Amino acid sequence: MKYTLHTHTVGFDGRDSVQSMVNRARDLGFKTIGISNHFIVNPVIKNTKMYPYSVRGGYSNIYSSSFEEALLRFIPHYHEVRSIQELNPDMKILCGMEVDFFQDVKWLHGFENAIKLLKPDYTIGSAHFIEYGGTLLNSHDWKNADEKTREQLLKRYWTNVALAADSGLFTWLAHLDLPKKTGLGREEKWMGYENMAVESAAKTNTAIEINTSFYRDYCYEPYPSNRILQMMKEHNVATIISDDAHETKNIGRHFDEACKIIQDFKLNTLVR
Ligand SMILES: [Zn+2]
Ligand SMILES: [Zn+2]
Repeated sequence: MKYTLHTHTVGFDGRDSVQSMVNRARDLGFKTIGISNHFIVNPVIKNTKMYPYSVRGGYSNIYSSSFEEALLRFIPHYHEVRSIQELNPDMKILCGMEVDFFQDVKWLHGFENAIKLLKPDYTIGSAHFIEYGGTLLNSHDWKNADEKTREQLLKRYWTNVALAADSGLFTWLAHLDLPKKTGLGREEKWMGYENMAVESAAKTNTAIEINTSFYRDYCYEPYPSNRILQMMKEHNVATIISDDAHETKNIGRHFDEACKIIQDFKLNTLVR
């Protein structure tokens, strides 16, 4: 693998600068790096339970209440990435974004407008939040919900992911089985929902990443799980390897394992 396209940098929720990420990618022998900071726009995002934590943690910049606010961050950010491209002609440096998809006409309209202005090289679709009871809940909230609510939240999660795929707005989808971050959604009963999302991705030619940020001692696997990889094979959905690096030392993590998965499942890749 000679590229990394799912990365985060300082000023958003990453630890390192664009230039230091580029340097690290070059040291690893990569020819291409894409910077894909969070593009999360929702009018109630700052009223959520998690928001004060992000302020204390110093990464609240990834959350915008309006598209105007997000554009004020992304216009200078892309300007910086493009000027770093000029300073590093030996590397291909791309402007990406990891977008939270919301199922709402106003959001769609605002997003399409933003894309026209920013002209990203690619977009990654994701669903870190579920709308519920007038607020937004993240994976930790899903975990802490009572059983009945949790069930509903997971159904909504998968519906959102399928709709994000249906929209055709994204080059690929991030960490498809995100609920497993907090141990949720592993039962076989979720396979119908997973399949619905994979079918939507197949219909719109949206790829699904193998995200290598999940490898843990107790669960040594990436996103998505083997059963989803099997569905991707059956529906001929392409894949791409993502390290989801939030700092230089994460670049290229577990890429050997991910390459082996691509070979084992004989998946098509979006980038060679
Ligand atoms: Zn993410
Ligand atoms: Zn990410």
